Amino acid sequence: MSRSVIVTIDGPAGTGKSSASALLAERLGFDMLDTGAMYRAVALLALEAGIAAGDGALIAAALDRSVLQVDFSTQPPIIRIDGRDVHIRIRDTDVTSIVSQVASHREVRQRMVEAQRHVALTHARLVTEGRDQGTVVFPDAAVRIWLDARPEVRAHRRAEELRAQGIDVDDAAVLRDIANRDSSDRGRSEGPLRQPVGAVVLDTSDLSFAEVVDRLEAIVRECLAAAKARCGGVSA
Ligand code: C5P
Repeated sequence: MSRSVIVTIDGPAGTGKSSASALLAERLGFDMLDTGAMYRAVALLALEAGIAAGDGALIAAALDRSVLQVDFSTQPPIIRIDGRDVHIRIRDTDVTSIVSQVASHREVRQRMVEAQRHVALTHARLVTEGRDQGTVVFPDAAVRIWLDARPEVRAHRRAEELRAQGIDVDDAAVLRDIANRDSSDRGRSEGPLRQPVGAVVLDTSDLSFAEVVDRLEAIVRECLAAAKARCGGVSA
């Protein structure tokens, strides 16, 4: 198929967007873009350069001097800063604790939105996940999905993920962290976390990971087949 087909998946922290999007993309034969990883890489760049998370202008200048690359040669793609693979490092707690503040700056978001649209030019069949993909970056996407889950379920899932990586955390602390990030992401003026108007909503609270991916796949296939307005997008 030569025409561009974009599927956006947005939602708050801990809904399992990244893992579900990766498997969904694989099943559909699409590429997958994890835009949270891009913002995390910017936060890491700021940390390493000793720039305060609140200084948008300095962070943007550092970004302009660096090459932030989404490397599609691996599955799922990995993120690189000046050629260096940082996909593990960007999940560390020091990055997580400042990423929302870094992502709140207009200068940073403008650069990320441009970079994400550029990715779509060369990856015409794309599942892209984040906070603003269906509202700001690709408002005309063929399918726009909003993934949600109850906060305590999201916190538990995130805590389990971290424990699987050998990081000792408790659910209450993770719940506080995701509540803070959600509130910052919802409250910012530029690209706030918002459910796209007309998006297909999937609450994953009581679904297994496999069920989430199955539902997502069914939603996308149905939307693309029928090109229905209820899918939140335009005809594919
Ligand atoms: O998805 P993930 O939890 O890795 O995202 C990390 C942070 O990056 C989010 O909490 C949010 O502050 C920011 N982000 C964003 N816009 C996106 C994707 C992520 O502001 N499209």
